[in-house]
Amino acid sequence: MAKITKEEALQYHSEGRAGKIEVVPTKPHRTQRDLSLAYSPGVAEPCLEIEKNPEDAYKYTSKGNLVAVISNGTAVLGLGDIGALAGKPVMEGKGLLFKIYAGIDVFDIEVDEKDPDKFIETVKAIAPTFGGINLEDIKAPECFYIEERLKAELNIPLMHDDQHGTAIISSAGLLNALEIAGKRIEDVKIVVNGAGASAVSCTKLYISLGARKENIVMLDSKGVISTAREDLNESKREFATTRTDVKTLEEAIRGADMFLGLSKGNVLTKDMVRSMAASPIVFALANPTPEISYEDALESRPDALIATGRSDYPNQINNVIGFPYIFRGALDTRARTINEQMKLAAVRAIADLAKETVPTVVTAAYDDSILSFGAQYFIPKPVDPRLITEVSEAVAKAAIESGVARKTIENWEEYRNSLRQ
Ligand code: NAP
Ligand code: MG
Repeated sequence: MAKITKEEALQYHSEGRAGKIEVVPTKPHRTQRDLSLAYSPGVAEPCLEIEKNPEDAYKYTSKGNLVAVISNGTAVLGLGDIGALAGKPVMEGKGLLFKIYAGIDVFDIEVDEKDPDKFIETVKAIAPTFGGINLEDIKAPECFYIEERLKAELNIPLMHDDQHGTAIISSAGLLNALEIAGKRIEDVKIVVNGAGASAVSCTKLYISLGARKENIVMLDSKGVISTAREDLNESKREFATTRTDVKTLEEAIRGADMFLGLSKGNVLTKDMVRSMAASPIVFALANPTPEISYEDALESRPDALIATGRSDYPNQINNVIGFPYIFRGALDTRARTINEQMKLAAVRAIADLAKETVPTVVTAAYDDSILSFGAQYFIPKPVDPRLITEVSEAVAKAAIESGVARKTIENWEEYRNSLRQ
């Protein structure tokens, strides 16, 4: 993909109607009678129905297909704490992705509030508007507390995508890479470089999938996170190793089966990759510059199974193959939450899809390159039209089976067809 210039990016956002999204009415509004139905006096009837039975909001308003993308702008992309307003283009962009991939409408909400408790109160106060909430670009460690409390105190699906989106997609990649390498998740030694929002959440999900905590070493900007350190916050302390023989990345990575990088560009050297176990799994996900380039990782170890956050190399870990469909399945079952079972169902659906024959619409988008399950292709591509059926259905089924759905789906064939529209 050709590099995008600053001018192009600014023109894209400013030309025509400024920004990337608009609101479109869904009911007739040509005549005076239409307007009397849309607004006063007709509108009073659905109001009274909803007052009697709050669930009727799903019947008479857009709530059920409406997700809030909410940020306080404290960890926007790789740009850091640029503030609520400056993060708006990102939140609008997320709205665009929700709409084009899963038909979900989004209001982007930029909240100028860094205090976690006040932020939580704000989100709770506006929650009635929405069928679901996507927390976005909120810095660690506050993001953990904010999400945990909102999950407990709201009864609509809610997810901090920077944490769980990344965890779900990289878990799918990990399961497939392990299959190619012929290894079991219970046995592999994992080095996690980074201890922020995404790293912590990925590690937790890998453990849910069977990885053993004692096989994991996590590092932050100061080195290995060990129980000997006294500068750790709660989320880091959870993964502190008792090992005393490793302090640096160089030491920790020797013999490891997996490197998960969610830290900073160019911190993993070729020698470090060379020191890893057979068929090493290298997920270098720092954006836009990975911990090691795809070329360098492959050159140092031709047997490596590599993923990055970049679209111009094989195996991109891109959250867009998850969040639209996870919310689709959650909204369609009016799930009270997004629980572990739903996340794991998404992981398996994404992992399984990579093993299916790839349709020509996908290969055509990649210069007709051959995409078949293996080292060069173990994560589905974002343009894959089967993602919406496979992932949404898996998530919806998991919501129903785990008892958090308020609406059931009887006819799955019909549901799948409705998703293809
Ligand atoms: P974050 O919350 O700011 O966390 C960054 C973490 O990296 C911190 O724990 C920091 O340590 C650590 N770190 C910084 N320099 C390091 C070094 N030299 N060695 C080891 N650790 C180091 O950020 P995040 O949201 O988790 O994202 C981290 C990176 O992953 C970003 O580049 C982001 O773009 C990328 N990312 C990619 C994807 C994807 O590919 N789909 C998804 C999510 C994130 P301290 O705690 O000591 O400051
Ligand atoms: Mg984000």
